[in-house]
Amino acid sequence: MRDTDLMQLALGLIPPWMVKACAFDAEKRRLDIEIDFAKGGRFPCPQCGTADCPVHDTSMQEWRHLDFFQHQAFLHARVARITCPDCGVKQIAVPWARAGSGFTLLFEAVIMTLVTAMPVRAAARLVKEHDTRLWRIVHHWVEAARARADFASVKRVAIDETAARRGHNYVTLFVDIDQRRVLFVADGRDANTVAAFADDLEAHNGDASRIKEVCIDMSGAFIKGVDYNLTEAEITFDKFHAVKLVNDAVDKVRRAESKDRPELKRSRYLWLKNERHLSAEQSASLDMLSRMHLKTARAYRLRLAFQGIYDQPSPGWGELILDRWYSWAIRSRLEPIKDAARTIMRHRDGILRWFTSKIANGLIEGINSLVQAAKAKARGYRSTRNLKAITYLIAGKLDLRLPT
Ligand SMILES: [Zn+2]
Repeated sequence: MRDTDLMQLALGLIPPWMVKACAFDAEKRRLDIEIDFAKGGRFPCPQCGTADCPVHDTSMQEWRHLDFFQHQAFLHARVARITCPDCGVKQIAVPWARAGSGFTLLFEAVIMTLVTAMPVRAAARLVKEHDTRLWRIVHHWVEAARARADFASVKRVAIDETAARRGHNYVTLFVDIDQRRVLFVADGRDANTVAAFADDLEAHNGDASRIKEVCIDMSGAFIKGVDYNLTEAEITFDKFHAVKLVNDAVDKVRRAESKDRPELKRSRYLWLKNERHLSAEQSASLDMLSRMHLKTARAYRLRLAFQGIYDQPSPGWGELILDRWYSWAIRSRLEPIKDAARTIMRHRDGILRWFTSKIANGLIEGINSLVQAAKAKARGYRSTRNLKAITYLIAGKLDLRLPT
């Protein structure tokens, strides 16, 4: 058996393609494999499928292939243009690469596996390619998989914003709550993001009118976007955002009060964290501060009571306790707490909807931390387009159909 026969087997080439020559360059650590087709070879038309079209002309092309031990491997072949009786002169498709790529399909498959596990920049260093070439591969496979994605079953959606680049601009994530997958990433965080999502949903066999439950924060932009575009959806306001609103009010009370009460300085963490996350020492400090007739302590008790609303066993109890909490909060003489209570009350229906829908954005927080971790490792993506592609790749549950 000749070495070219072996290489032919390894590459899985079938006639008319065959390996013509192999050359090792030990110094350049390079393996070059020349592929050719038999003289008089004929090919099917890439457009209409007509078999046995004659070759019109050829041009040499090169593809990077999987490394052969420490050698970079390249395939070379003259690629034919055929004459089809119906379509005219067309360039044929080669079985080892997709049109327009400088890499073989197997090399691309390896890249796609690498970039789910490490930043694209690191993968680029590993295979000694420029990362823009790798991004091109990522975009191709993600776009192809997204084009096939089916959103027909989507009924419940969580929507949240996330910082895209160093906190300056934002993207909005739309997540299928039941299948725990990112459906869509929109630029910005305004009402138009929901319109863009509705369009994308319909482009993927989904239907905006089939969305029955939506979880969002209390931002006016999302409320408006949902009202206009997801007209059948009931809104649940995310409970983590609601608790955070009250938490922030506690901190405003503490900051104002700490001007006269130095013991409150550096106690921010104690009031904001859940008690079970505090150390024994922190717990003791909180206990002591709580007994000191501080405004902050009263605000803190209101926050605990607000969280407790979510422990109520039924929508009826939830409603009763929320209304009691509101009248307590509004009589508290703590302005930041009163402001928060008014905001909560303006969104009462969506706050109470939680008792029926039981949906929250915790799922997005998880996805978000994946994305933020990937972003940190890559030291920020150069464009939102790249961030979107990585988000779909990591959290979109796409069927990439990579060659094996
Ligand atoms: Zn044709």
